[in-house]
This record gives sequence, C-alpha cells and structure tokens, in this order.
Amino acid sequence: MKKNQRSAGPPQASSAPSGGSALHEVKSVGASERSAGPPQASSAPSGGSALHEVKSVGAILLGCIADDFTGATDLANNLVRAGMRVVQAIGVPAQALGTEVDAVVVALKSRTLPKEEAIAQALDALRWLQAQGAQQIYFKYCSTFDSTAQGNIGPVGEALMDALATDFTIATPAFPDNQRTVFKGYLFVGDVLLNQSGMQNHPLTPMTDANLVRVLQAQCSRQVGLIDYKVVAQGEAAIRTRIAQLRAQGVGLAIVDAISNDDLLRLGPALKGMPLVTGGSGVAIGLPANFGIAPSETASALPAATGLQAVLSGSCSLATNRQVLAFIQAGRPALGIDALQIAAGIDVATQALAWAEPLLSQGPVLIYSTADSSAVKAVQGQLGVAEAGAILERTLAAIARGLVTLGVRQLVVAGGETSGACVQALNIMQMKIGPQIDPGVPWCHAQTNAAPGAGLHLALKSGNFGADDFFSKAFTGLV
Ligand code: ADP
Repeated sequence: MKKNQRSAGPPQASSAPSGGSALHEVKSVGASERSAGPPQASSAPSGGSALHEVKSVGAILLGCIADDFTGATDLANNLVRAGMRVVQAIGVPAQALGTEVDAVVVALKSRTLPKEEAIAQALDALRWLQAQGAQQIYFKYCSTFDSTAQGNIGPVGEALMDALATDFTIATPAFPDNQRTVFKGYLFVGDVLLNQSGMQNHPLTPMTDANLVRVLQAQCSRQVGLIDYKVVAQGEAAIRTRIAQLRAQGVGLAIVDAISNDDLLRLGPALKGMPLVTGGSGVAIGLPANFGIAPSETASALPAATGLQAVLSGSCSLATNRQVLAFIQAGRPALGIDALQIAAGIDVATQALAWAEPLLSQGPVLIYSTADSSAVKAVQGQLGVAEAGAILERTLAAIARGLVTLGVRQLVVAGGETSGACVQALNIMQMKIGPQIDPGVPWCHAQTNAAPGAGLHLALKSGNFGADDFFSKAFTGLV
C-alpha cells in the first residue's frame, strides 16, 4: 500500500461552504499584533537556589521563546520532567501571567517567516517574558536545526543577544533521548548525518549540510565556534574555560557537542547565569537544577480526559509516514486529503468531517495529507511550496475545529506548522503541559471556545518524533 493511499474512498462532494474565511480571522490575532506590557528592567541573572526562594508571586524563572508550536511543547515537556511547572502560551500573551509557574514557553510560528518578521516576534516575546521577571531566556528551535536559507536561528539568536546586551551564547540541537546527537559540530539523527536523515527533503526547511558550525555561520554576523565533546566530557569548569577562550577570540555563538544526556547535564551548570541560551529542547534538562528545582510527579498532572478521539497529520517526515502507515495497517479508519483537490475549489474540509462523523464513536480516526517526498514534490511543482503548505494547513485547521465541534476532546496533531495552524484555529491561548507520550511529545490540556467547559486534550507531535504506533498508543496513555 502506498503511504499516501487512502484507506477510504474519496470524500463525497458537498455544497456546504468551507471554514476558510473564519480561519483567517483567527489567524490574524498574531503574536506581533498583541501588545505586551511595558518592559521592566530585567534582573541580572545570577542563578542559584536562592532565586527560587526570593521569587515574587507570578515572577518566572525561565522565559522561553520557541519558533514553532510542537517545539514549544517539546521544550515544555522536558522542563516539566525536570520538575518545573510550565505553561505554554500560544503567541505573545496580551496580559501578565495569571498563574504561578516556574517557566513560560511562548510558542511562535516563526521558523519559516522572513527573518525580519521572525526577529520582531521574538523581541516581542522577549519583552513580555522580561516583564514577567524571567531571569534567563531560552530560544528554542528544532532538534534537526530546521532553517531556511536566511535563518532564522542565527538572525533571531543575534537579535536576542543584542536586546539582552550579551556577547555570547551557545547553540545545540542535541537531544539524545530522541536520537539527536552532535559530535564535532555535526548533527546526527539516529545513525546518520542530518543531511541523510530525510530532512534533506523537508517541504519547507530542507537541511543539506550536517555541519552546524557552517550552517549557523552562514546565518550570523558574529563568529561561530565549537565546544567539542572532549571539553563537554570534562564538565562545568572546562566548559566555562572554553567559553572564556572563545569569547576572547571574538566568538559570539558556539555549537556545543552532546552525545548523551550526561553531556547535557554537565553542560547545564556551565549555563547558570548566561542571559541567553539557544538550543533544541535537550539543553533544557540541565537548567531547572540551576534554580534549585528537582523532578516532581505533580508537575505533569492534567484534568481527566473525556470525549471522542482523532488524529490530524500534515507532517511528511519519514517518521510520520511510518506512523500513518502503521495506523492504516492496524485497520483503523484513515482518510487522505489532497492539495490539488483543495486548489481546485473542492470543499475537502467539509467532506472529511462528513466522512469522520459516523466513525468517531468507534475510536480514533486519522485525517492526513502526509505523503512521501516524491508525492510532495509533485504537488509542490504544481502549486508552489508555500501555497501547497498553506492550503493544507488551512484545511487541516478547519477540520480540527470541525472535529472538536463534533465532540472530539482528545486530538493528536502531527507536524509543527500543522499544529500551529490547528491551535490558532481552535483559538487556544495557553496550554498546561502534562505527561509524556514519547520523548518530546506530552499530552497537554487547553481551554478552547470550540469546546467550552472541560476543555480539550491535545498532543502536538513534531514531524520526526514518536514511535511507529504513536497514533494508536497516544490514546492509551491518557486517563
Ligand atoms: P514537520 O513537523 O514534519 O516539519 P510541518 O507541519 O511543520 O511538519 O510541515 C509540513 C508542511 O508540509 C506543512 O506546511 C504542510 O501543509 C505541508 N504538506 C503536508 N502535506 C503535504 C503534501 N502532501 N504535499 C505538499 N505539502 C504538504
């Protein structure tokens, strides 16, 4: 069976209008349009357990800016597992934080924006986080270092350095729990280099070079250096010495090797007091301890799950292709949607919802645009990369809202950009982070005006994450 083959017949034609225009309205509430409170003087980061004790009510310790939604969740998941109470905000909040937490992750959707827009959104998030009292800022990007030709990891990182008046930061996407390791500056995904991992075919951010020093240098005006595995293996003092050396040489950003969690835990103490840390979600495992916080079971508690179950998949990664195939091969109901039909004016969202409605009471259904790289290229050749991505994201987002209207209260979404579009369509502003399903992917709980009352459980899966049976397994872990 071809991976993008439908397991059900094509959706029937329907005359109902699509939800497209409503989505545009929701999407227009963008991060950059919300006003953050006036920036307050940021307290100088000094680290140490004393910080936790003296923290005023509502002030946060760690302020995080993530360049996509699933990445934000992945980071929040690691912080929760290390004991921090974490809220993920969707875009820059309009108001001060209402609850007391240790960290806030502001989820942007800036990975593939023009760099000027990505910078503006990140600086907006920074001002809000500083106003909440954040003592350290963390810029989170993908563990596969997803970048466009322009950036945005380098440009955003440097803009944050300028705003924080700091001359040095680190950069490492290493996340050994998810098979992302960095060795001599080269990023490995499992046993292969980044550029052989499937990421070279990503629809929006193809990665064709595994040498991160080279990739980051091409995006930066400051000099990029390396803190290699031999230094990291020696621990905090050696890492601090190497940082001092690099600074003396005029290096502004350093890729850091890490091939195990132990490396990340050795790196953590050396980052205490650094105004800005940049990385994938892995580096985060070593930071809570700098604030005197230890792992605790209660940090991940969520309300009880209710309602119907569904999966939406707009990721075309190799892992997601395997997950779609496994769901179909398990005999579960799955429906593929086609960008060309949408482009031809067919109301695919309404048709998909009509397909799903009678099936939902029997268990989870899957609606997907996931396809292999040759099918993706063929569609992109006809519609253009951006247009193909945008119309599929819009359609899956309309389907997400429709599913919730049909009673779905447990929703898995695969794909970072796709998740961003779905979360915006559901008008979700904030999520509490719960227990982990697979590394990098926790269940979350959110209020949405599409499901007033008990709210919605959501799992936002970054394309490359999750075991092959993720789409079935996710629902068994939720009680
Ligand atoms: P990932 O987390 O795997 O990177 P994303 O959702 O971030 O997934 O990105 C996938 C992009 O590819 C989205 O913009 C999505 O709309 C687009 N896309 C999904 N399916 C197809 C397809 N069949 N053809 C072309 N583009 C697609």
